[in-house]
Formats: sequence, structure tokens, C-alpha cells
Amino acid sequence: MRPERFDSWLTVDAKGLYCRPGGFHIDPYGGAKRAVITHGHSDHARPGHQHVLATRETLAAMQSRLGSAASRGTQTAAYGESLQIGEVTVTLLPAGHVLGSAQVLIEWKGARAVVSGDYKRSADPTCPGFELVPCDLFVTEATFALPVFQHGDATEEVEKLLKSRAQFPERAHVVGVYGLGKCQRVIALLRDAGYERPIYLHGALIECCALYESFGVRLGALKSATGAKREEMKGEIVLAPPSAIADRWSRRLPDPVTAFASGWMRVRARARQQGIELPLVISDHADWNELTATIAETGAEEVWVTHGREDALLHHIQSTGRKGRALALIGREDEDQ
Ligand SMILES: [Zn+2]
Ligand SMILES: [Zn+2]
Repeated sequence: MRPERFDSWLTVDAKGLYCRPGGFHIDPYGGAKRAVITHGHSDHARPGHQHVLATRETLAAMQSRLGSAASRGTQTAAYGESLQIGEVTVTLLPAGHVLGSAQVLIEWKGARAVVSGDYKRSADPTCPGFELVPCDLFVTEATFALPVFQHGDATEEVEKLLKSRAQFPERAHVVGVYGLGKCQRVIALLRDAGYERPIYLHGALIECCALYESFGVRLGALKSATGAKREEMKGEIVLAPPSAIADRWSRRLPDPVTAFASGWMRVRARARQQGIELPLVISDHADWNELTATIAETGAEEVWVTHGREDALLHHIQSTGRKGRALALIGREDEDQ
């Protein structure tokens, strides 16, 4: 029997991507009856749902940011655990993006669809690595879907930071990082590189670090930058949300070297424009090669693109003989920006 077309049972409505035979949305806008959430970033994990299914880590991230993950109830799924929801079987598998991030495998009538959320293939000491899931339909992001985006090795970027610190011992190094994921990854990479000094945190980052630590991710000595004296922060590494770098906030730091850990730092003009002295190309999203390799490795005949730079990726998908479709989900932002 020929399986039903994917777009007959995975549809896009006003709330986003909807699985009809399962009766749930994936990463919907607010107010869904039943939502499966891939990870805790604010453009995927929105407030106001009645029921939410996610990993334990994602639910904790939602609770910490939103106060509550769902109004009527939550359900936890461990990686690899298969659950029956309506007529479909749902399994969450590691996406390698941030702590708790999951791809959603949906099986119905012998067809396999994977909604990958945000993902990366490169190593990250703070979360389990991306697990390749063979499927018929692969739904992918396209944040860095241009051949110019090649993220390279994050450990080399952290070496650059440490080298700069050695070169300017009188200055603080303030590194812009997104709060959930990037912040803890940069800390873990610094620790792996042998950096043992306390790392100073902007107040907005403290809770996310505590969340990671509560799930057993060790980050070493962390200090609040808020009460710290200017003199004390000479030669130290300070992490802050990207918006705080250009802000009054950073004036408390001694002659800071401004850095930013983001996949966008591959674009020099962008770094210059934002006044970044030390761009660090560290991304929690797949780069061009990772996107195209992953699509091929899943074996999917059909690929849907949720958000980002769809055009180049769709062209690639079609030129490799697959069926491609842009979902153009709105309201997805890149947390790196
Ligand atoms: Zn994300
Ligand atoms: Zn996202």
C-alpha cells in the first residue's frame, strides 16, 4: 500500500506545524491544546499551551523562563522512549543543539517523519550529540544554509580567546553569548582547554547556568559580575548577553576586549558593525556542510525547511533529486542574533 502524502497528515496552520493523526503541534505559537516542544529556546518553547510533551531538561528550561511549561499538564519523554499519541508513535532523540534538545520522530502507517528542531553535528560537552534518525521526511532548519557558513572547530575559537587574554592581561574579556546553551558551551570549552579561573557572569546568565548544573553539567567556579570590583576583573573572562556588550553595563569592566560567540561571526562585516573586536565562530546550529550531509544521511526522499535561508537549501535539496518544500514558519528567530 502506498503511504499517504506527508502534507495530508502533517499540516501547517495558524499555530504552526500540526500532526493530524496525533492531534498535536510541534513548537507552536502560544495556546496550543497539545504541544511537543523540541527545546527550550523562546522561539520554539512558547507560553500558553495546555499540554506539553518534552524532555525533562526542556520542561525545566520552560519552567524557569515561563514560570510554568503548560496550564493543564506536562509529560516527560526520555531520549529513545517511544510513546503512543493518538494514532502515531512519537520518539524524542538527541538533536545536539542545547541541553535537552530533541528531534521528534513521528511514525504513522509505516511512514517516518523527523522534525529536527534546531540541531548541530559538532561536539558539545554540555549535551548529548545529534543522533542520526533514518526517515522518509526530514524537517530541517536553515539558519546557516549558505555555503559561506562553515563553522570550523569551536575549540580553536576558544584558544583564540585564551591567547587574547594572555596578550592583554590588564583588560577584561567580555564575551557575548546566548543564555541557554551557548553560555554553558563556552564555559565547558574553556574548562576543557584547562582554564580554571572563576568565570564572571552577567546576572541574566546565572539561572541558565544553575539549570545546567542541576542536570549534572559541571561548569566550575562561576562568579556574578554584578558585585565585582573593576580592579578585580582585570584579566578575567566575563560572559554577558550580546545586548549587554554595547550597553552601559559593560562600562563597569576594565578596558574590555569585546568578543561574541556566534555562527554569524563568520561574516566579518557583521562583527565590525557590532563593534566586536574578537569574533568567535561558535554556533549551536548546523553549518552548510552539516545541513547537506545530514539531509543525505537520513535517506529522506522529502525535506521540509522550517525557517532561515531556505532558498539555497531548497535548491540543493531539489538538485539532489529530493522533494523540497519551504514551510516559512514565521516567528522563528535565530537566538544567535
Ligand atoms: Zn534553538
Ligand atoms: Zn530556533
